[in-house]
This record gives sequence, C-alpha cells and structure tokens, in this order.
Amino acid sequence: MTSDSVKRLALEGGFDAAGVAGVRPEDRPELAYFEQWIEHGHAGEMEYLKKRDEYGRLKRAALDRAAPWAKSVIVCASNYNAAYPYSVECAESDRGWISRYAWSAADYHESVLQRLRQLEAAIKDSSCDPEFRSWCYVDTGPLVERVYAKYAGIGWIGKNTCIISQELGSWLFLGVILTSLELEPDAAVADRCGTCTACIDACPTAALVAPHQLDARRCIAYLTIEKRGEIPEELREGVGRHIFGCDICQDVCPWNSKSPRAAAAALGTRPELVNPALEWLAAMSDDEFRAAFRGSPVKRAKHSGLRRNVAVAMGNSGNQRFVPALQQMAAGGDPAIAEHARWALARLARVDGASGGAVDGE
Ligand code: SF4
Ligand code: SF4
Repeated sequence: MTSDSVKRLALEGGFDAAGVAGVRPEDRPELAYFEQWIEHGHAGEMEYLKKRDEYGRLKRAALDRAAPWAKSVIVCASNYNAAYPYSVECAESDRGWISRYAWSAADYHESVLQRLRQLEAAIKDSSCDPEFRSWCYVDTGPLVERVYAKYAGIGWIGKNTCIISQELGSWLFLGVILTSLELEPDAAVADRCGTCTACIDACPTAALVAPHQLDARRCIAYLTIEKRGEIPEELREGVGRHIFGCDICQDVCPWNSKSPRAAAAALGTRPELVNPALEWLAAMSDDEFRAAFRGSPVKRAKHSGLRRNVAVAMGNSGNQRFVPALQQMAAGGDPAIAEHARWALARLARVDGASGGAVDGE
C-alpha cells in the first residue's frame, strides 16, 4: 500500500486533507518545546496534558513507547469553517462568542473519530497485511497532533500555534491513525508566516507571549473552558464577550481570509450558537443547559462555568440593560458566579459613569 493510496482513501472518506509522517521523535524539535512548555507552567490546570508514563515521559509525546509497532502516522484534516462571519466582524454588545469549532450539535471528537475508523477499516482491507495494526486518535493520543500534521505536509505551525494550510487556512479538525504500515512520509511544510505578527498583536490578553509560544493561562480559550472557579481579575476585561473559547488569532490571520467556507448544514452548525444572545444564555436553567448542549463541546465548561463567563461578557458589553440579570446572578447561591457578577456590575457602573448615564442598546 502506498502513501498516495492512503491519502486518496482519506479524501474519498470526506477529509479535506491528509498526509503521512514518520514516527521518529528525534526528528521533531517541537516535541522538546512541548516538554519545556509544560515545565514552564504554561499549561495551567490542564492536568491531562501533564501526565507522564512510568519512564517519566509526557504521555502526549511518547509515541515510540506507547506504540512501538507504529511505523507511520496518517494525519487527516477536516475544514470546519462554516459560512458565518468571524468574531472580529461581530460587534453587537448584547451578544457573546462561542468558538467556531463548537457550533455543531455534535462533538467533533466523535464525528472525526467515526470518519477515521471508516478510513482505518478501508486501509486495513486494502493493505492485505495480516499483521496490520492501527490506532485512531482525536486529541487523546500519545502525540501532539499538530506537530505530526506539520511533518505530514498538512500545514505549518503558525505564530498563533495553529496548523495553517495554504489552501484551507487554520479551521481544521485533526485526527491521526497510527499504523504498522511503512508508508512514504510527506515533506514538512515550510513556515509561511513571514514577518506577519497580526495574531500576536490582536490577542486581547497577550497570551501569545512570543511567536509560536502560547501561555495557556492567559488564553481566553483556557480561561473560559478549562479554568474552574475564578478568572484572574486582571484578565477579565481582555476576555471581552467571549463565553466559550476564542477565535481572534485565527480570525485575523491573513491565511484565513480566503479559507473555504463550508455550508453550515453540512457541518451541522446550530445558528443560535453563532454570536449568541447573552440574555438567552444567562436565563438558562440547568435542564435547559443540558438540553441545549447535549453532545456539544460547550458542556465541557459546565453550566456554572458558562454562567460565570456570561457574567464577565455582560460586564464587558457596556450594555446597561444587563444590570438586572447581573443583579440576579450576584444574589445567587454560586459564589464564583456571584463574585464575577459583582465585578461585572462595577464595570458597567464605571462605563455608565464615564458616559454620563447614556444607555447602550436602547
Ligand atoms: S485564542 Fe484568543 S486569547 Fe488565545 S491566543 Fe488566540 S487570540 Fe489570544
Ligand atoms: S496571523 Fe500572521 S503570524 Fe499569525 S499565524 Fe497568521 S500568518 Fe502567522
């Protein structure tokens, strides 16, 4: 079986790009950076990224130990750029932002994994190899997917730390198949960021501390999804009206200005999650939250986390009509939500004072 036939099967199976990388870790300087990134504490409270095997190696970068039989890594990419505006084009103060990857009713981990398994079966059938072995992963494997995506020729790792394809942009779900097949690897993609620094300049919380270096503790995606309890006060203004994730450093990337936009229906996009109304989210009961986000990545933030984020977003909106909703949250039983709501009320009061009491949104 050849690399070209594997890639053809991947494209026939619905992926937008596919490539093959070798497995040897010494060829991957980015994996040494991953170790430093963890050691410097840049992963924040994301303990799952810090897990080590019995040899002290990070499980996420221990492919050779976890799967010594693997000879090749097949990397598949799926474009999720639904035909809706970017967050930097949406300025309505009564609306928040949910990251583009989370607009679908289904969790992408499941849908990409399902497609990978179909591809895995097709490769197995075509290989006619009785010793064939393989594993499929979406975000959970013993490897940093974007590093292998680079060496599989899918794209380069941009200064915003995302994989960027010259043809597709960076709105890509990645999935990998480790296989015992010895396949011809693709050539790594050269960096095409050049002198651009748009992503670094646009990041509202200065989370891109240097090109290709993300301090997750400052990143809005981490703060609104992974971080439990308190969002550090000095970062709250920078969070803006984001309530689940952040797309800014991808929105401003020139390589995404012509990224193909897929039909929302094909991606299963739920229009109500695109630039959603903050009042709708604030008013949700536990049951309504569960029903609205069943199977969605948004449930990772949990209902309490989402309400906390909505409080911060309302505070940053400058929109005085949110005062009653925030007063209700401030009087509620969840101490974290109440504290963020008090912060938001104080912020709205400052904005109101500065504008002489003009009411935004009326
Ligand atoms: S996702 Fe948002 S907060 Fe995180 S690095 Fe990109 S622009 Fe900054
Ligand atoms: S915005 Fe510019 S520097 Fe950042 S990833 Fe895109 S091309 Fe690279």
